[in-house]
Amino acid sequence: MKLVILGMPGAGKGTQSVFIKDFFSIPHISTGDMLRRAVEQKTDTGLQAASYINAGKFVPDKIVLDIVSWRLSEPDCKNGFLLDGFPRNLAQAEALDKILSEKGMALDRVINLKVSSEEVVRRLSSRKICSGCAKILNTHSDKCEFCGGALIVRSDDKEEVVRERLRVYDEQTAVLVEYYASKGTLLTADASGTPEEVWENLKKNLVQ
Ligand code: AMP
Repeated sequence: MKLVILGMPGAGKGTQSVFIKDFFSIPHISTGDMLRRAVEQKTDTGLQAASYINAGKFVPDKIVLDIVSWRLSEPDCKNGFLLDGFPRNLAQAEALDKILSEKGMALDRVINLKVSSEEVVRRLSSRKICSGCAKILNTHSDKCEFCGGALIVRSDDKEEVVRERLRVYDEQTAVLVEYYASKGTLLTADASGTPEEVWENLKKNLVQ
């Protein structure tokens, strides 16, 4: 299965990606995770990307495309993959088409997680990530309920940065829904329920 997952920040892309990658046994390729790792490790890419991420802006296309193109060439992507957080604008979507067609590949489905902006703001204001097991939780606690690890707030989940990320989504990413609808690959899923409810519904549509 060759998949892309789209949705506003906080729509649940990371959470649904875990269900999807386990179900189809495919690698989960999150450009946000790869960029955050590069920032932590202070690689050249990380040093270039940090200021964009912290301001809620897009990292330049060239940097992201290099990462994705390299990652899709890894052997574990031969039989499928799930791209999360990429493409983020029309230029990236067109570049992805080119990368895939050069490899003789094409996307099977593009999942669009649909949720209201009020719900997204509510979720992001309580979103935390466990430093132990990497689970994404919506809680006011500082301790992971699964492994007891310390919970941390992503630096770009601060209110003013969230507002900027939502603005950039509307300005640049929302158009991708139309782009993939016109190609016939779009699968829109209601993402307003609990993670398990959203996944049960999504799974039914994906296996059809
Ligand atoms: P995410 O974890 O997908 O919300 O991404 C976190 C941040 O990483 C975004 O707000 C951007 O600054 C950057 N980023 C992730 N993916 C991309 C992309 N495809 N294009 C540009 N910037 C990206």
